[in-house]
Amino acid sequence: MKRILTGDRTTGKLHIGHYVGSLQNRVALQDAYDTFIILADVQALTTHFENPGLINESIYDVAIDNLSVGLDPNKITLFQQSRVKAIAELTIFYSMLVSVNALRHNPTIKTEAKQYGFDDLSYGFLGYPVSQAADMTFCNADLVPVGEDQVPHIEQARKIIRRFNTLYGKGESIITEPREFISNTPRLIGLDGNSKMGKSLGNAIYLSDTKEAVNQKIKLAVTDKNRISIKDKGNPDICTVSKYHQVFNPSSYNDICEMCKNASIGCVACKKQLSQAVNSLLEPFREKRAYYESHRDEVRAIIETGSEKANQIGNETVEQVKSAMSIQLI
Ligand code: SF4
Repeated sequence: MKRILTGDRTTGKLHIGHYVGSLQNRVALQDAYDTFIILADVQALTTHFENPGLINESIYDVAIDNLSVGLDPNKITLFQQSRVKAIAELTIFYSMLVSVNALRHNPTIKTEAKQYGFDDLSYGFLGYPVSQAADMTFCNADLVPVGEDQVPHIEQARKIIRRFNTLYGKGESIITEPREFISNTPRLIGLDGNSKMGKSLGNAIYLSDTKEAVNQKIKLAVTDKNRISIKDKGNPDICTVSKYHQVFNPSSYNDICEMCKNASIGCVACKKQLSQAVNSLLEPFREKRAYYESHRDEVRAIIETGSEKANQIGNETVEQVKSAMSIQLI
């Protein structure tokens, strides 16, 4: 069985952008691939090192988000990054194979540094793509389902792996070079019209939101600002709500656009339809969430078992890597 590595930083609850960008693919692929889901608490430190309480609590939040959307703990390996020592070791070895300039020019690093207001980047933040290369390779993943913004990290990881295999492989591929798997909706805009829905941007609908919270958030979503009255013809191309209809209510999308353009639907009714579509997606997740939230010991056991398995596999990989690099006593 080919292997998948994917996951999330533990910096808060996941939202519907994560769902359409990656989680729904994880669920769809879990039968066909040996799926490893990382709870990336070490990488969470790159931006949230001053908030250890949030990172710690988010380990459960993110685990439950993954389980509640339909990932089956009997099929997948859900593990905590900090428990897998191999990832830290591989990060150190790989860090020799990448230049500081290459990391500085990584588009995702540049965008996120700006987003978090980092002028002087920490060593750990700059090295995030190296750490991701270690995530993907400790278990020799073949496929990495990601959102669009993570593609530069995968390209960087592939460069590191190629360099490693060329230098130390003696003609063989010791480390598997993974390929990315991009969702049909790699990026969901925020409710405020921002180009991206983000945990830290205050513009997200969370997978854990109640029906009422979803309704309220969609009520406040940015629409075509030129449409003042219900009699005004709207432009769905510049409306956040229409973009959400396209993703969460695709069968009605064309009709909604037409009705908006000829002013035969008002924004209130249009938003109500969207709320119904989003809530009908989230409703089955809410049932599973309620179960896992009241069985936290079970979630803990799933993470512990997964972390043990990941550790064993990672230790084998590190031995192969060290042997190839001649890091051993002879
Ligand atoms: Fe947007 Fe719908 Fe209003 Fe048109 S009718 S502007 S698509 S909310």
